[in-house]
Amino acid sequence: MEYIKLAEAYSELENTSKRLHKTFIISQLLKETSEEDLEHIIMLLQGRVFTDADDREIGVAAKLVLKAISVSTGFSISNIEKMWKEIGDLGEVAEKLCGKKTQNTLFSSDLDIKEVFSNLQKLASLEGMGSVDQKVKLISKLLTSAKPLEAKYVVRTVLQDLRVGVAEGTLRDAIAWAYLPGILPNYDLDTNQINPENREEYNFQVEAVQSALNKINDFSKVAITAKKGIEELNKIKIVVGKPLKVMLAQKVLNVVEAFETVGKPAVLEFKYDGFRMQIHKFEDKVTIFTRRLEEVTNQFPEVEDFVLNNVSADSCILDCEAAGFDSKTGKYTPFQSISQRIKRKYDIEKMAKDFPVELNIFDIIYFNGEDLLSTPFKERRAIIERIVKEEEKKIVLSKKIISSSEEEAQEFFDESISLGNEGLMFKNLEGVYKPGSRVGYMIKLKDVQDPLDVVILGGEWGQGKRSGWVTSLTIGILSNDGFLEIGHVGTGLKEKPEEGLSFGEITELLRPNILEEKGRELVVKPSVVISIEYEEIQKSPGYSSGFALRFPRVKLLRSDRRSDEITTLEEVEDLFYNQKKS
Ligand code: AMP
Repeated sequence: MEYIKLAEAYSELENTSKRLHKTFIISQLLKETSEEDLEHIIMLLQGRVFTDADDREIGVAAKLVLKAISVSTGFSISNIEKMWKEIGDLGEVAEKLCGKKTQNTLFSSDLDIKEVFSNLQKLASLEGMGSVDQKVKLISKLLTSAKPLEAKYVVRTVLQDLRVGVAEGTLRDAIAWAYLPGILPNYDLDTNQINPENREEYNFQVEAVQSALNKINDFSKVAITAKKGIEELNKIKIVVGKPLKVMLAQKVLNVVEAFETVGKPAVLEFKYDGFRMQIHKFEDKVTIFTRRLEEVTNQFPEVEDFVLNNVSADSCILDCEAAGFDSKTGKYTPFQSISQRIKRKYDIEKMAKDFPVELNIFDIIYFNGEDLLSTPFKERRAIIERIVKEEEKKIVLSKKIISSSEEEAQEFFDESISLGNEGLMFKNLEGVYKPGSRVGYMIKLKDVQDPLDVVILGGEWGQGKRSGWVTSLTIGILSNDGFLEIGHVGTGLKEKPEEGLSFGEITELLRPNILEEKGRELVVKPSVVISIEYEEIQKSPGYSSGFALRFPRVKLLRSDRRSDEITTLEEVEDLFYNQKKS
């Protein structure tokens, strides 16, 4: 398929904020897409060229793209920079300038989807000496062939900032609309409504796509299978070794609210302050994924051994929290101390000795060939109780009680905190496992003054001895309308890396994500997540969230979190009103 078809769809998507209309646009595009192009189209619609499980990144800074636009259009860098400052979006700049290209380079050849996709992937593999020039060459080659609209979206995709607003739920629905029988005619483009008479049938078909996605977290594969029909779709099964999204927890502020949400009696468990591991075992092969579905098996050889030695299952998928502890005192240590193991590629054995972890297993989603996603939690828990041989400070089940009593819950909460944990999890005894969802079957209760997880949206270059570092960070929380600012923070970051999370480290993490620079100020792609401590939440018209934090301090880097897993506006509102009452 020609890339222009996708570019036109992007443009239509950008021009509507209505979800059903977006779904319609995507479903029309999918219907026209051949099986060969489907995988690429699905990824490109999400603005990406690598799957979750692939840790490669395009990693091209805006400065390089600027150079590529200059090479391909003949305009000077300073001219392009000036336009960029005026317009604020390098994609639009590329669109405008490509339209002014001289005749002989105009549309030298048509871009096709496969070519764009593979060239974008190639960008990630260019490393070392001369790679900067090669990257510029590759991008400018694409831009030379691009029509103006194509140039806009090539640039935005390279910068990982597509701005067309395709949420996962929309893509899921569009797959159903495109391929499942009779679902598309239910939509009326003029009124932008679904025929209410067919609602049940409609939900059933969308649910079939969602259920497949729960089992293999791969939109492309699900789309290709849906194209073959609903029977094929229903045959999709969990594959041990391929990560599933993890189920997320809703937050409550006290034990009363916790019971109201999950019901009574409930399972109450310690909430360990470690990091999540989804562990797949198939005979003697163990694969470990983080909550972001990155594979970390090599970094945790001891965990591999714990599972091989202590879990009796031919195959299984376990949901766990790896909690760090002090090898001398045995006390749990905060997430911070073990987080460095996640990305570590060398000295693995030494790290395992210096920063030991205890594996706390709290759930199971697959056992000896059987998918347990729809099995009630109490039965899933019974399975882990049966198959795990516990060994203190190596592999244990999360500590639990079953209770209906607020007093007992409060005591259990206090006990958990006194042992260095974060609080409690409340779980519905009958709850099913919903990958990727924040449903009311699993609730977290932490201390009210717990840090907020926020994403960095921008910052300011420092001055004097701090020049070259991003010093003041603009931070944001999540809402239904995207990220909203909640303040600026610089306190807590260190000048010397040996003292903790440093300005230098944050700067290097932000550098490839820079989208815009105006004077000392910069806007970055929202991807780096940090935890912030604060004294109080205040109302503030100065920030788009309507709230500000009093005395914010950076506590730590949450490299295990994605930007869509951070604190939400709803949670901040709750925290605000709760602190007012007390
Ligand atoms: P939060 O990180 O604040 O969103 O809280 C949810 C996280 O708590 C999960 O993703 C797990 O990593 C972690 N956790 C710790 N202990 C448990 C437990 N017993 N059950 C479920 N999740 C737990």
